[in-house]
This record gives sequence, C-alpha cells and structure tokens, in this order.
Amino acid sequence: PLLPGQIIEGRPATLGVLGGGQLGRMFVRAAQALGFETVVLDPDPASPAGRSCHHFIQAAYEDAEALREMARLAHAITTEFENVPAASLRELARLRPVTPSADTVAIAQDRIREKACFAQSGVPPAPHAVIETEADLAAVAENLLPGVLKTARLGYDGKGQARVGTRQELADAWHGMGRRACVLEKRLPLAAECSVIVARGRDGQTVSLPVQRNLHRNGILAVSEIHEGNIPAPLAAQAQAATCRLAHELGYVGVLCVEYFVLEDGSLIVNEIAPRPHNSGHYSIDACDLSQFELQARALAGLPLSAPRQHSPAIMLNLLGDLWLDAAGQPRQPPWRQILALPGAHLHLYGKTEARPGRKMGHLTFTGPTPQAARANAQTAAALLG
Ligand code: ADP
Ligand code: MG
Repeated sequence: PLLPGQIIEGRPATLGVLGGGQLGRMFVRAAQALGFETVVLDPDPASPAGRSCHHFIQAAYEDAEALREMARLAHAITTEFENVPAASLRELARLRPVTPSADTVAIAQDRIREKACFAQSGVPPAPHAVIETEADLAAVAENLLPGVLKTARLGYDGKGQARVGTRQELADAWHGMGRRACVLEKRLPLAAECSVIVARGRDGQTVSLPVQRNLHRNGILAVSEIHEGNIPAPLAAQAQAATCRLAHELGYVGVLCVEYFVLEDGSLIVNEIAPRPHNSGHYSIDACDLSQFELQARALAGLPLSAPRQHSPAIMLNLLGDLWLDAAGQPRQPPWRQILALPGAHLHLYGKTEARPGRKMGHLTFTGPTPQAARANAQTAAALLG
C-alpha cells in the first residue's frame, strides 16, 4: 500500500487521475484530505480538477510524453472518465499500479461488451439487439420497438441516443448516427431508476454505499434521493448483491457504479456501469462518514475500505448551466444566499467558468434529520432556483 505522507523516490506519496472534470476534482480533494499529493492530466487548461491539484499536466489522453510524466509524478493512477483510451491506461499500468484496470474500463466504454458482462450479475439487461450492419438492422425483432437506439461508444447524459417508434425511424436514426455500432433497447416502462456504488480493494474486500434512487430529466441525472425506503427493500438488496457480484466477476478494483431500472411490474433491469465514482453518489460527501471519493483514493492506494455509514437522509439536486441563464439567455447568478440559509444545504460548485445549458456546474445536497425535512428544503431550493 501507499501510505499518506510517505516519502517515495524523494517525494510525498502521490495519486494521479486521468480526467480533470468534477469527479476528478472531488477525488483530488479526498486524496489531499488523506495526505496524498495529487496529479491530474486533462486536455482542458481550465479543468475543474486541474485547478485543485498539486501538479497539472495539460495534454491529450493519448500523449505518450504526458503519460510518462504522469507515471513519473504519480505512484498510483486512476481515472475519473470512462472514455480515457484504454490503451493509455494499459501504457500507464506498465509503469505504475492503475485501478480500475484498462480491461474493465474497456468493457464500460462499449455498451455491447457491457451488456454481455451483465450475464454474470444475475439481473437481466433490457431486451436488446446489436446493430453493426444493414443486415443486423433488417433482422431487428419487431418486439424491440418502440425502442431506444444508443451508440455503443461515447454516449453520456443521454447523448448518442434516439427514441424510435417504427422500423423507419430506427433506420433513419441509425443512418443519422453514421451507421456506427449501436445497441437497440426495448423502451421499458420505468417505475423508478436506481444505482449502486461499490468499492472493491485489491484483496477483494467490497463495501457498498446505500442504494440511490435517481430521477433523470432529458437523459441527465436531475435528483438523487438516498434514505431508507427510497426503493422497496428487496429490490435494494437485489441491486446491491448484483453489483457486488459484478465487481467480483470482473475482478474489479476501485469504485464501480451500476445503474438499474425498476419496472412497473416490480422487476429489476441492469442498465449500464460506470468504472468510477458516479454523479448519484455525490451525497456521500455530506451524508456518509466515508465518501465515494475517499473510497476511490483508498482503493487506489491499497488502504483499508471500511463500510460507509449514512448518517443523514439526503437529497441531491444537480445544478445545470441553465440555472445561470435567465429567460432571455442572459447570464444571471443563482440565489445562493437564500439557498444557503436553508438548513442542511451543502453547495458544491465545480469552478466551471462557462455556463452552458445541460452542463453540470455543481450540485446541492440537502441533509436532514428525516427524509421529509431534507426533501422540504430541497423543494424550497428548487423553487428558488426556478
Ligand atoms: P447515459 O450513458 O446517457 O446515462 P443511459 O443508457 O443511462 O445513457 O440512458 C439515459 C436515461 O435514458 C436513463 O437513465 C433512462 O432514464 C432513459 N432510458 C435509457 N434506456 C432506456 C430504456 N431502454 N427504456 C426506458 N428508458 C430508458
Ligand atoms: Mg446512464
């Protein structure tokens, strides 16, 4: 293990992360709190994590020299972004411990491979078909429509997806996506969505956060509610067990999030995996005694993982760039003074200077003595935000 503050090769133990977004920023903060130095690699000179770390390498993820510099500075390396080229992780792994492994990240980068690995979870994915050729398109079973066509690679926040009702719409959408490899999923009647975050150490020890219940708007996470009874207990237990099983089957090391659908008939469907901390787990900073980011740092350093305990019911609201624009599209400041006057409000802004519609600028977590109290304050904040 790497011990915080330990001097290695003449420098304090240092943790590196590929990707400088908000997840990277919250990771470096947690790593720093433990006593590690931190290094971030990101192409964006103004990346949120790049401005919070000890060493910032501004470069493309494929830049061989930058990767060597990362491996020189960092004694162990993780990622905050699943679309970092797996080849870069593989290259780094020749020089330093890298978690999660390039192989598991590569699975999460590809919906086709991801769907295949769900067989090991014991929970089924949505009925689906892989579309890579015109012949695949012609062979799509009628019962997959209406469906959701998703590019196999590089989709996020509902991007790279099209809702299709008919064969013609499906063909048009697939051609519109440039005939890229895709997955067509049957559109399912969702009663709820939830996610489970686990951390698994090199020794196989696995700990789990409570199950998050998630509300999406326009394909983007909007609200997560985390408290006892947010989804029926048997479903929560099933989702947690399936997530632990997947982490185990994949030989996963690090923080893993698995997203699930709860259908109207009460059954559970596995949707997708993220090989990193997840937006739905941000509440763990304020509502748990161990956050998903500290778990990521501990797993990377080979330190003990203890089971996180949630000490307060929590509701998290994502803050999208739309809130920084008025009805006429002019810049405005959200009403932070009124919001911070609400009990249990925890504001996290990511330091992004440019607000764009749909861009994740920050989040607000409300904690309270009861779910009702947290929800009431979150609702007041949502009304203030407009
Ligand atoms: P992303 O990578 O953009 O998060 P997801 O596959 O998680 O992609 O889809 C985003 C959201 O779209 C989901 O959280 C869910 O609300 C909705 N969605 C996706 N697939 C389906 C489906 N098969 N049936 C119904 N809703 C879906
Ligand atoms: Mg998703």
